[in-house]
Amino acid sequence: MQKSKIGILGGGQLGRMFTQEALKYEDDIFVLDPSNEAPCAKISTFIQGDFNDENTVIEFGQNADIITVEIEHVSVKGLESLEKQGKKVIPSSHALGIIQQKQKQKGFFQEHRLPSPKFENVESIAEITFHPPFVQKLNTGGYDGKGVQIIKSDADRYKIWDAPSVIEELVDIDKELSIIIAKSPTGEVSTFPITEMLANEELNLLDFNISPARISNNQILEIELIAKTFSEAIPGSGLFAIELFLDKEGKIYINEVAPRLHNSGHLTQDCCYNSQFEQLYRILKNLPLANTSMLPNIVGGMLNIVGDVPKLGEVEENYSGEPHYIGLEKCLEKPNAYLHLYGKTSTKPGRKMGHINLVATSYEVLQEELQSLKKSISVRTK
Ligand code: ADP
Repeated sequence: MQKSKIGILGGGQLGRMFTQEALKYEDDIFVLDPSNEAPCAKISTFIQGDFNDENTVIEFGQNADIITVEIEHVSVKGLESLEKQGKKVIPSSHALGIIQQKQKQKGFFQEHRLPSPKFENVESIAEITFHPPFVQKLNTGGYDGKGVQIIKSDADRYKIWDAPSVIEELVDIDKELSIIIAKSPTGEVSTFPITEMLANEELNLLDFNISPARISNNQILEIELIAKTFSEAIPGSGLFAIELFLDKEGKIYINEVAPRLHNSGHLTQDCCYNSQFEQLYRILKNLPLANTSMLPNIVGGMLNIVGDVPKLGEVEENYSGEPHYIGLEKCLEKPNAYLHLYGKTSTKPGRKMGHINLVATSYEVLQEELQSLKKSISVRTK
């Protein structure tokens, strides 16, 4: 194994947990992020700069042999130039270019017969032919549910954004699922067990994750086939999270793909033989892919620790600032719970500050324990 210089665009929690894992090997890790308080800043060779700026990305890439991303909103042109210089860029600029824009991403699903909700691409409101209810997704710039809205009825039409978007049929969702897939440069493909994502409606943010998902064997096979088709179609190698919907009639659709480490893969740290972070390292270094199975006889879960949200009438400013964690001892007291904090210097309502992974022997116990931990933990300001 040769020592490399690995460069990561983005210095958030995904990059931080990747770096934590990769540091057990011998490589040098470089990180680019606009904020010098980013979670990666203190644990890597940190460079402050804008990963959306072509020249900054090209300059940053000169330090590295292998470049990856922990966020998809980066300069694709910058990465293209680095590829031309002979640098290893994973995921490829081509794949990022497709995934970065929701319109292109939907077109890619259609082209490769990957089942996704019916849609139309529009440049402005005037082009919309769908009738409510429908979902509007901004073509670029959305994340964590921002840039996505449901237009329930004609009365909601005033909310429609006049911007390039995907307009999508509303799926009657039974379960939101995710599968993380690894594709190595030699073409080896491996998937992690499917997870179920349980959302917090109020915040539009993921709340819990449980794995393996409670779905039928046929549904598992169907999703694995989707993952295989996707991995064959997507140019280049990488770690990808495919987010899916299972509707109330049992039909499966792809919602979207993230070309990177994913929140739904955090539980792999403590519930699987190897984590998504280890797997990305293996892909970047073109090493044999890791065993992704769940540990024997367990079900796994993950709970996001997010900044408290002010109750009605409370002042939002009191919930933004230096974080103060309450109740984390409850997690540490449990023999089956694992705490991961992201080292963020400031909390905000709904901001992801950390997570807890939990192993249990049944779904009932798992859900009970996740709920009870959630109730006992809060993130406030001092
Ligand atoms: P983001 O990229 O910001 O995470 P998503 O595309 O995942 O946005 O959408 C956020 C949430 O909106 C999804 O998790 C789902 O709950 C809901 N949603 C998105 N598309 C649809 C759809 N076609 N039908 C029903 N709900 C949807």
